[in-house]
Amino acid sequence: MSSPYDVAVLGAGVAGLTAAYRLRDLDVIVIDADSHVGGRTLSQQFDDGSWANFAAQYVSNDKLKVFELADELDLDLIPSGFHSDSSRVAGNDDLKRALAPWLEKLNDEMARPRPADAAELDGLTVAEWLEGAPDSVHDYFELWCGQLLFASNMETSLHGLMLVWGDQRVTPFTTEQVPRSNRGEVVFKGGTNTFTRALAKASGATIETETLVIAVEESEGLCRVVVEGPSGDRTIEARHVISALPGTVARDVIRHLPPAKVKALSRVRYGCNIATPISVLPEGQTVEPLPLVPSRHSAIYCSNDYVLRTPGDIARDGGCFHAYIHDSHARVVWDDDPASIRSGAWRSFAAAFPELADRVHHIGFKRWRHALPHRHAGRMADEEVLKASCGAIHFCGDYTWTSNMDGAARSGEAAAQRVRDTLSTSGNPT
Ligand SMILES: Cc1cc2nc3c(=O)[nH]c(=O)nc-3n(C[C@H](O)[C@H](O)[C@H](O)COP(=O)(O)OP(=O)(O)OC[C@H]3O[C@@H](n4cnc5c(N)ncnc54)[C@H](O)[C@@H]3O)c2cc1C
Repeated sequence: MSSPYDVAVLGAGVAGLTAAYRLRDLDVIVIDADSHVGGRTLSQQFDDGSWANFAAQYVSNDKLKVFELADELDLDLIPSGFHSDSSRVAGNDDLKRALAPWLEKLNDEMARPRPADAAELDGLTVAEWLEGAPDSVHDYFELWCGQLLFASNMETSLHGLMLVWGDQRVTPFTTEQVPRSNRGEVVFKGGTNTFTRALAKASGATIETETLVIAVEESEGLCRVVVEGPSGDRTIEARHVISALPGTVARDVIRHLPPAKVKALSRVRYGCNIATPISVLPEGQTVEPLPLVPSRHSAIYCSNDYVLRTPGDIARDGGCFHAYIHDSHARVVWDDDPASIRSGAWRSFAAAFPELADRVHHIGFKRWRHALPHRHAGRMADEEVLKASCGAIHFCGDYTWTSNMDGAARSGEAAAQRVRDTLSTSGNPT
């Protein structure tokens, strides 16, 4: 067997790749089950220079870690060119009136800093907090939590709602000063995957895709990672492991974790999502319509109102509507044939944009089982346990931080630092 790696990083998403990049002076292997690097930053590039994002896209101006990494890697960040409130309030005066006292109450909660794990913030679901509100207000927050958190009111804590509400998404409290980039809200030119591909390359690590981690064990100062890859099962040895896997997968594959860790990882829940990015040709070009098959008549095939788009003038230049179906609707069509889901996506798009229907040249498809970790009640009480290392096994991923690329990158960086701290205290010169 070859000599052990310094670090085996499990999971090649933003978290794992940031960790590998920060440890690029060490001998690192990164292992991922999927066929691409980048996890939930998957994109597809087309010959005409346009691209489709299947998941992460926006980098708001408070996501400074993403800006920092993009600058280090010399990547192009371009203005998102688009920001829309898809809350469906506009023009609905009854809803506006019903919402007003609840928005005031929410603003008041956000103006009163309290410990993140305070029972009235972390222990309370949005559904409980809304008790006594009219149905229209419940429906409004249900849709809002669905679109932004891929979760229901009853799966989201008040703390989780506050963290993402408004224009600051790194703290729930409006009293805190949030440092911001002066470049505004941006996206990665060429698709979000340009970010993770660049991280993978700059890390200099050995990268193995299509390789499933099935067991991890630490004994006698060495970690053994059992994987199933294109050439069968094998064991990879490393002095340290960084798990950048989804929380529940980490619980299932890592052996002999302390009971508190198992409990906290078991409480991590993910909303699911189906991405169907819809790419259209520039003005004046048309294609044969997609061969359609039956889709569910009453299902919702786009839950984000087509607000996520390639920057610029799509009607003129073509580009992509980064459409997705969020958790509660995704569950309805989850097991349907992709051809049916694509057909449903096309029908929904053609109804919203009849003038673009004969320019749709591609509809992507990706099921995300672990789309976004819920900010569930009790999440903040688990925060420290989720982040804590167990021996030479360190944990990162957006479920340990905030549920976005910035949180994932920060968590990967922190895990890399924990490896360094151990190396310096153990006197290991690597
Ligand atoms: C539809 C959608 C839209 C989003 N929009 C945004 C946005 O606009 N802006 C933003 O900042 N964030 C957005 N996010 C969130 C963002 O994508 C994630 O927070 C971030 O990419 C998570 O990175 P990660 O490294 O923690 O996890 P992942 O990227 O999920 O990485 C985990 C990796 O582990 C691998 N893996 C799982 N099991 C195994 C196994 N047994 N063996 C080996 N490998 C395994 C997976 O294949 C995956 O590559 C969005 C997410 C979705 C789904």
